[in-house]
Amino acid sequence: MALPVTRAALQKISAFVVPVGTRSLFGVKLPRWGPDPLDLATGLEKKELLARAAGNEDPFQINAIKRGPGTREQPTKVPSMLDDRIIGCVCNEDSLYISYMTVYKGEPKRCECGHWFELVPGQGIEHPSWWV
Ligand SMILES: [Zn+2]
Repeated sequence: MALPVTRAALQKISAFVVPVGTRSLFGVKLPRWGPDPLDLATGLEKKELLARAAGNEDPFQINAIKRGPGTREQPTKVPSMLDDRIIGCVCNEDSLYISYMTVYKGEPKRCECGHWFELVPGQGIEHPSWWV
């Protein structure tokens, strides 16, 4: 049984249905249609999508940080939205393990390899109050 679809109804639907990517069918790329994910997202996911749409590719500041000089006077800055953060240090490029440690706000920390880290306030998305 087919439902009668009017042109006006199709226009209303097409306002909310947008191409959200592509799918491949026998090697031919076709648009994949669906609602805009930004319209469906709520809460933290929506904040993430909005930040990525604004050009911020690392809204939670979880990408790897390249170490700086790492001295006590010039420690590697580790951004965090909280008062502490668990970090991993690849002490040397041939290392087969990662040294994990917790860095606290206001307390620079030294890794077993001698490299210093310091927590700085992050610029990312604030976590909801229930996060902590
Ligand atoms: Zn280290």
